[in-house]
Amino acid sequence: MLIGVLALQGAFREHKQMLEKCGCEVVEVRKNIHLEKLDGLIIPGGESTTIGKLLEDWDLFQPIKERGLNGMPIFGTCAGMIILAKNIVDSDQKRLGLMDVEVVRNAYGRQVDSFEADLEISVLGEKPFRGIFIRAPYIKSVEPQVGIMAEHDGKIVMVRQGNFLSCAFHPELTDDDRVHRYFLQMVNDAKNYN
Ligand code: GLN
Repeated sequence: MLIGVLALQGAFREHKQMLEKCGCEVVEVRKNIHLEKLDGLIIPGGESTTIGKLLEDWDLFQPIKERGLNGMPIFGTCAGMIILAKNIVDSDQKRLGLMDVEVVRNAYGRQVDSFEADLEISVLGEKPFRGIFIRAPYIKSVEPQVGIMAEHDGKIVMVRQGNFLSCAFHPELTDDDRVHRYFLQMVNDAKNYN
């Protein structure tokens, strides 16, 4: 299985390490040519306005969008979740808009820039998943075709819509690989289906 990690800016190395630990072959995606043989792609956390701009500058915006629309699984974490969202409250920044959700950026305010919380994510089993939130967004609303996978404090923090997955926290900064393995299962299912 070949998984790409968008490596324009942000926390891509940690995703790469986690995927390698799960036994995947990993490509750092910086050019169109890196997309060719991918089975799935991760868009990491970082700064969503920068990542959106670099996607265009590096001619990756349209090709990634098309691959996603053609069924390639994509997983966005934190800034990656913002990039995948269709609507961003009070922002017209560049986004792929592949998921029918509305996100709020930097949603927790200055006093709580970063925090950790135990999350119940039923598809991962009974043991809670430790969510690390760093200047995190949350999802304000979703359309009916979007599945809510986790909430924290009454706010939606993880969703899936078909071949797209996103979360507001940073699973790559823990040593719990269950979220990555869940995504890899999605990739595997998509591969068997195509
Ligand atoms: N605050 C960042 C943004 O709005 C996201 C932060 C993160 O990815 N850790 O893009």
